[in-house]
Amino acid sequence: MSNNKYAVNERGYYGQFGGAYIPELLRANIDELRGNYLKIINSEKFQKDYKRLLDNYVGRPTPLTKVANLSKRYGTNIYLKREDLTHTGAHKINNTIGQILIAKYMGKTRIIAETGAGQHGVATATVCALFGLECIVYMGALDIERQAPNVARMKMLGAKVVPAISGNQTLKDATNEAIRDWIANPNSFYLIGSVVGPHPYPDMVTRLQSIISEEIRGQLTKETGNPNPDYVIACVGGGSNAAGAFYHYLDEEDVKLVAVEASGLGVNSGETAATITIGDVGFIHGSKTMLMHDEDGQITEPYSISAGLDYPGVGPLHAHLAETGRAQFLSVTDQEALDAAMVLAQSEGIIPALESAHALAALEQMTFDKDDVVVVNLSGRGDKDMETYMKAINN
Ligand SMILES: *Cc1c(COP(=O)(O)O)cnc(C)c1O
Repeated sequence: MSNNKYAVNERGYYGQFGGAYIPELLRANIDELRGNYLKIINSEKFQKDYKRLLDNYVGRPTPLTKVANLSKRYGTNIYLKREDLTHTGAHKINNTIGQILIAKYMGKTRIIAETGAGQHGVATATVCALFGLECIVYMGALDIERQAPNVARMKMLGAKVVPAISGNQTLKDATNEAIRDWIANPNSFYLIGSVVGPHPYPDMVTRLQSIISEEIRGQLTKETGNPNPDYVIACVGGGSNAAGAFYHYLDEEDVKLVAVEASGLGVNSGETAATITIGDVGFIHGSKTMLMHDEDGQITEPYSISAGLDYPGVGPLHAHLAETGRAQFLSVTDQEALDAAMVLAQSEGIIPALESAHALAALEQMTFDKDDVVVVNLSGRGDKDMETYMKAINN
């Protein structure tokens, strides 16, 4: 599959976005990874190890479920790609299992990660336990307080959770601490959780998540005789589940790609995470991309009811897909996502993650033909969001 127009170039750019804007002290670490990741990923041995773990540990392939009641509601044919049925309950494990293999092949014995809501921290702690590697997770002190269940999971899995006590004590501060650690410990592997960060992370994570669209192609061929749907819809925080669901369709221009951001209390409310909708070009987490900032150029604290979408930037691939018009970007409020979660639960017996509920809510904003084939990537399950759902039900 050649993804020339939308693939990363030699220097790590998608159009004008991407690159590796990093402290000079990190150059050697990044160069080492850049020099190795493609060789490893494309090797027969990696592909065999990775596929075996995906099959027997993660629980792949995940089903592609045709949802009859939802299809009827929107007058079309809707399929859900069931990342909610993976081990740990979301797509993040596809990436962490791939990166830990790469780390192992590179001879690294210590894993560093940062996490906001804790979902990536849990996915990282999980694979570190599996591989018997030391796991250090940086987390903002405020996030540690807010996300107690995930902190407990990480600890139970044997990870060391280190509070970041600078700044707002949230994700950005945890990232700074993780980078500081990596500079001090070059023999560690920095395991990033989405298609963000300096090159080669966005491309590496996209490739590791591309199993999602690889499976969709095979499953749709069996189901409809055509590997291509009319639409692929996915939510975007940093953008990894969307990148994985889009990857094998990037050059298939008849497949419409729809990315859904969280607009929180509304795009103009000041309480939002709709980066593409209201953001500008800037630099965050080592790459040039779209991000939200204030008049002084300070990165804005994002807001969404969904912790996984609560990120002030977006991966450079998505900035490029937005700029070229290859993907359409929609935004969905907290309330619209809550409503969509209730609709799915009560019409199909599936409780989605709040993040995935944003992708489902986009169906309300679109119009379809009765013969269209629409795939919604159900990035995760809703167990972790029950407290939020209960509050919504009781209101
Ligand atoms: C973390 C998370 C997301 C957002 O991350 P992306 O990198 O944008 O995919 C979406 N859905 C679920 C269930 C998550 O846990």
